Amino acid sequence: MKILITGGAGFIGSALIRYLIAETNHEVINLDKLTYAGNLASVEEAASSPRYCFEKADICNRPELERVFQTHQPDAVMHLAAESHVDRSIDGPSAFIETNIIGTYTLLDVVKSYWQALPLERKEGFRFHHISTDEVYGDLPHPSEHRQGKLPMFTEKTAYKPSSPYSASKASSDHLVTAWARTYGLPTLITNCSNNYGPYHFPEKLIPLVILNAINGKPIPVYGLGDQIRDWLYVKDHARALLTVVESGKAGETYNIGGHNEKTNLDVVETICDLLDTLRPQSTPYREQITFVKDRPGHDRRYAIDASKIEKELGWRPQETFQSGIEKTVRWYLNNQEWVEAIQSGEYRQWVEKQYGEQ
Ligand code: NAD
Repeated sequence: MKILITGGAGFIGSALIRYLIAETNHEVINLDKLTYAGNLASVEEAASSPRYCFEKADICNRPELERVFQTHQPDAVMHLAAESHVDRSIDGPSAFIETNIIGTYTLLDVVKSYWQALPLERKEGFRFHHISTDEVYGDLPHPSEHRQGKLPMFTEKTAYKPSSPYSASKASSDHLVTAWARTYGLPTLITNCSNNYGPYHFPEKLIPLVILNAINGKPIPVYGLGDQIRDWLYVKDHARALLTVVESGKAGETYNIGGHNEKTNLDVVETICDLLDTLRPQSTPYREQITFVKDRPGHDRRYAIDASKIEKELGWRPQETFQSGIEKTVRWYLNNQEWVEAIQSGEYRQWVEKQYGEQ
């Protein structure tokens, strides 16, 4: 297949591209606006392949999208481009509304016209795969408040109840995709995944932030009591799941993807501290740098994914445990300081501006 990936310079998109180029024969078109979160260094190992090409484009820009579709004639679209950081969505929601809602709408409309004009055989095989989050479901009861019976999990049938501007914008985009399937017959797939972690994760996100603050002797901030629960999935396991869904998923279906790794934020932070005590020992334990800070407004208490549908119907299962994945992640950040430094120093942004003009 020739797969057009939006947001391929981001954390998950780049993992997907590295995986597709290394493990399959698919061709990849990486379409990305290169916002602050996009980084072409994350796809460097795939970029030399003749099966890879890059298009700098904005999903809100219809003429740019039309040009890319006419030039490359993809067999499938995997849509990951988004504004993705909850804290940023609280401080400034407009970019989230713009990219996640208007951008997804614009892309869907361009895809619809492109798909309708395809010859019958290509039209039937075409897929629009929308990559979304479990945050659209809102939050679940926390063990501290739930006294009876089994703790519930998110299934594909859970009603949407997003809490943050980020999750509300992603929920809107999911509904648009569902509407384009139902109204126009576009062959869509939606996946809702839990929190990802792994290499090339932007330094502001929890796990890289903890690793980097720890090794730089800075306080390690933990929101509230650190008792919020997330279900962590190693990013390469997510990439493998996405490939499984685009190749074998049933058009019109939604699949939840999760790692069976429910952890409190404090558990995650302490696990990283303990790993660093072994991998990069210092005179005091890293746990002493943990600092509790004021909680995020509207902070969801617990997420947990029931991934039994994708496991039973498509045979996907995560290969990493949290312990194995987090150790790989910590080692990667210790060995790839230059990737982080190029972002933090502004050197990478300067390169983007020189290459593509003012952003
Ligand atoms: P990210 O912020 O790391 O990357 C987003 C990418 O999209 C960047 O490369 C950015 O330049 C690009 N982009 C942003 N606006 C664009 C626009 N208007 N046009 C074209 N490109 C644009 O995000 P991520 O963590 O890799 O997440 C990717 C997708 O997966 C998102 O849709 C997110 O909602 C979803 N998701 C993320 C997680 C997670 O834990 N990170 C979990 C579940 C689902």
